Amino acid sequence: MRFVYLSDLDNNQKNFYKEADRQSALLSMLIEKDIDFIGAGANFYQVGSKKDWSQFPLFADSLLHRSNSLISLQWMEKVEEKDIDEHFQQIHKNYPLAKLYTVPKDQPKTYGYVMKNHEPIYIATDIYPRDEKNTPLIGFYSSRERFNLVVEEFLTTGRPSVSDKIRLLQDSLDQSAQKTGMLVYHPVFTSDKTALKGVMVGVVRITSYFDRLVNSTSLGEELVVRIIDTGFDAGDDPIMYQSSTWNNFKGVDYTTSVKIENRLWKIEYKSDNKLNEYQRLTLIWLFFGILTISMLIAALTSVVTRDKQRIENLLEIRTKELRYMAMHDDLTGLLNRRAIRDVITRYIEAEKPFALLCFDIDKFKQINDTYGHPEGDEVLRHIGHLMSETLGNNVHVSRLGGDEFSIVLKLNNIDELTLISEQIHDLVATSPTVFNDFEIAQTISLGAVLWQGETLEELLKAADQALYQSKTMGRNQVTIRG
Ligand code: GH3
Ligand code: MG
Repeated sequence: MRFVYLSDLDNNQKNFYKEADRQSALLSMLIEKDIDFIGAGANFYQVGSKKDWSQFPLFADSLLHRSNSLISLQWMEKVEEKDIDEHFQQIHKNYPLAKLYTVPKDQPKTYGYVMKNHEPIYIATDIYPRDEKNTPLIGFYSSRERFNLVVEEFLTTGRPSVSDKIRLLQDSLDQSAQKTGMLVYHPVFTSDKTALKGVMVGVVRITSYFDRLVNSTSLGEELVVRIIDTGFDAGDDPIMYQSSTWNNFKGVDYTTSVKIENRLWKIEYKSDNKLNEYQRLTLIWLFFGILTISMLIAALTSVVTRDKQRIENLLEIRTKELRYMAMHDDLTGLLNRRAIRDVITRYIEAEKPFALLCFDIDKFKQINDTYGHPEGDEVLRHIGHLMSETLGNNVHVSRLGGDEFSIVLKLNNIDELTLISEQIHDLVATSPTVFNDFEIAQTISLGAVLWQGETLEELLKAADQALYQSKTMGRNQVTIRG
């Protein structure tokens, strides 16, 4: 989740940089296009002969139609002081009411020639469109230092020059009017290129650039922009444009610059790098998706764990059963041969005194034959029962197989062994197996040995020999190895 969130933010950031670069390039392109149009206007005066100049409105019209921001073209012809009257005779052909005037810095509109050094002036001689806002400009010349600088610059660079943000004379002479314009001065040279014939001035409504810029961004209100003019004369009011919500955003995220002829505009962008509605929704769905999957996995895990636990329990029970079966005789429930061998081994390893008794039912085949096999089984169970009942917990009783049994018990002398062997023998002989309407009496032949350091096999063999001896001596008796 956090990864997706951060990656979305990162993407937004990249989009923002891309968008900012795109906007700066677009601005640059729009302005360059206007400068080219103004240059075309300058060419008209440069290459055409004086008699063609009357066609200026036709030519200018074709240019202005192709730009939203270029609102006017003005032809400012260079005129020496001595030629001013003659020049006005020309002007009056188109503009009969025009008078020579200027607006010196911090002074009202002033009529007549005011230049102190008798230098030539550049008089607004023709203008397009010739409407009621533009026409009063005819006869205007600039008496300001700034204009002189522009002209000097032309002679060294030959390139057009762009003003800072200005209040357009077309709008108002009032100082409180908004500064929404920019002037582009394009030199018009004499044919030998050594002097100026005049200047073509293009009037550009800069706000139209910025409106287009803001309208064309794909980031909408998430991107705000401020354009600062770093060129000469701009220090008093350098902000060309600023989005209305500029101050609501913190910090400047990205800065580019656009070079427009002699000026450098710094373009600052800010963006609130938040997730947009779509990204927020995606994150929410992702959150619920992950939650659902987690819950499913948790449920599955619990089922699997429970199942595993159940299987483990079953397995444990089964293992216990198997271990029991491996060590016990299933008919009598006594230890089996393997188990009693383990018991004897443990006793031998412990090196503590003990005895081994083995007995075999006499003529058991006959019991089977006389009463039947199931009854024979019952006799075996009965004898097993008798042994475990009477001998207690510390004595190990086993059925070695068939009708043969063995007993291991702690003992350290022959007398005790003889006594207990006799008691076992007598107990079996005096405890017939009782059925509903009959009894089966049984006797055993028993052989017993006291451990004297033998191995397991030696001990088993010795006990077997003692038992065998009881059998050969006529059965139903006890033999103790001396
Ligand atoms: P002996 O006095 O010489 O021991 O004679 P016996 O007939 O008992 O001979 P033996 O001990 O060799 O015979 C054992 C018989 O026990 C053989 C077999 O038919 C019987 N038997 C062995 N296992 C079982 C059993 O699980 N159930 C029953 N009912 N009989 C068994
Ligand atoms: Mg027998």
